[in-house]
Amino acid sequence: MNQKLIVAIDGPAGSGKSTVTHLLARKLGYVHIDTGALYRAVALKAKELGISYDDAPALGRCALSCRLEFQWLNDDRNHVFLDGKNVSSLIRTPEISMAASKISAYPEVRDALLGLQRQLGEKGGVVLEGRDIGTVVFPNAHAKFFLTASVDSRARRRAVELEEKGVYLDFEEVKKQVVDRDRGDTERKVAPLKKAADALEVDTTNMTVGQVVDTLAMIVEERSKRG
Ligand code: C5P
Repeated sequence: MNQKLIVAIDGPAGSGKSTVTHLLARKLGYVHIDTGALYRAVALKAKELGISYDDAPALGRCALSCRLEFQWLNDDRNHVFLDGKNVSSLIRTPEISMAASKISAYPEVRDALLGLQRQLGEKGGVVLEGRDIGTVVFPNAHAKFFLTASVDSRARRRAVELEEKGVYLDFEEVKKQVVDRDRGDTERKVAPLKKAADALEVDTTNMTVGQVVDTLAMIVEERSKRG
């Protein structure tokens, strides 16, 4: 019988991670866990409680106090619930993107979310997307991928995603946000965004989503057969 694997997909903002992870999980019959949504939900709660994004200890306490759950709804998506409320749309604003990136640099916040991420993935049959899945959360994941793409194409994808949500921003502004977030994510001291030594890097700039998904699925299925 095929083994149910833990699949890690890391990469910078706009590298196609979310779309690819969603479709890959569906193709494999696995669960999609968007770990960025957890950082975003903590940022949202901090905002609602008026906690400063500079106050690391308070943010750590805030993260520990959050009841975070994923629930599969009939739009075929794994929605994130914060303290019983579906916040999947509320966490997708540019403000919460920047806040999530900022607060995720604090060890207090990362530690508070680590156990939950491991719990969500430990049984296998999951594709987890994030920045440190292959390096910190599941260093022993069965398959690890690191998705990249040129800055321009990542900014274009992000702009389209935002437009689909009714947020229209100048392209240069979107690009600046992508670059700023990359810098924060790669330069932070704790669990920075980086490719795990044993991850396969896939540059998606000139690939269609279908091509990326097929490439990753083939590798996962091969490993799963090997057991
Ligand atoms: O993936 P997404 O863009 O939704 O993530 C929001 C922010 O959460 C990222 O900019 C990153 O700073 C942080 N994050 C993280 N580690 C993860 C997932 C997300 O630090 N595993």
